Amino acid sequence: MKGLKGKNALITGASSGIGQAVAIRLAQEGCNIAINYRKSPEAAEDTEEMAMEKACGDIDNCGVQSLLIQGDVSQESDIIEMVNTVVDKFGSIDILINNAGIQTECPSHEIKTEDFDRVIGVNLRGAYICARETIKQFLSQNQPGIIINISSVHEIIPRPMYISYSISKGGMENMTKTLALEYANRGIRVNAIAPGATITPINEDWVNDPEKKAVVESHIPMGRAGTAAEMAAVVAFLASDEAAYITGQTLFIDGGLTLYADFREAWS
Ligand code: NAD
Repeated sequence: MKGLKGKNALITGASSGIGQAVAIRLAQEGCNIAINYRKSPEAAEDTEEMAMEKACGDIDNCGVQSLLIQGDVSQESDIIEMVNTVVDKFGSIDILINNAGIQTECPSHEIKTEDFDRVIGVNLRGAYICARETIKQFLSQNQPGIIINISSVHEIIPRPMYISYSISKGGMENMTKTLALEYANRGIRVNAIAPGATITPINEDWVNDPEKKAVVESHIPMGRAGTAAEMAAVVAFLASDEAAYITGQTLFIDGGLTLYADFREAWS
């Protein structure tokens, strides 16, 4: 896609799922990729290996660079260090993908404050601090910059038993719009994708259970869950020059999940 070759991208939570697929796709498009992971260096190395394979094939040095960065996005100091490391190693930063995310299930009247804070701390506060530190860097480079937030259909669909997750993604919508508006005249575009049910480790309770999977998929108008690669394709588009005039938007990639599927057939 136009405008991605040679760009420097930081992807948070890139050792699995959608983040991993985004790292692979951006490398395939010619971006240098900084792969943030929290816990597992082995999983991050797997991402790197797959990304470089896609980017370079058999060529030893195809010009695409990669970097592994351990860091917890709920920790401000880790984020500052992460952005500094990308700039030290790649020279600049052009694209931030705010992907790291967690969820916990609990009735809303019983959730412990520390569990609530943990989800908000990663999904919303963490994403915001990553955006803040990256925007500082974009402005100091005096070059255009791109932020893509990985939100969720639960940005607009309420999700009982997952109040902290719902709030975090609802907040992400506002963050996307507010930052987009505030920095539009300085060459910074901020957008989001909102995946529907996607086959990744965060959904391990149903992806490998055919009965539960069938129940999930029965709610999706297109009749199937999405793949991480399908999410990554849209992220690559939004990061590219093909999307040069798009800012402040959330693109829903959900097989029609947000179309009120109960109205598929007439009720009476
Ligand atoms: P995943 O569990 O594979 O990915 C989440 C990643 O975030 C993991 O690699 C994890 O290590 C990382 N992470 C968690 N806490 C972190 C922290 N404190 N610091 C750094 N990294 C951390 O699941 P996924 O589905 O790929 O999720 C990626 C994003 O997509 C999340 O923001 C999630 O909310 C969103 N999403 C997923 C779906 C879905 O159905 N899979 C739907 C909508 C939105």
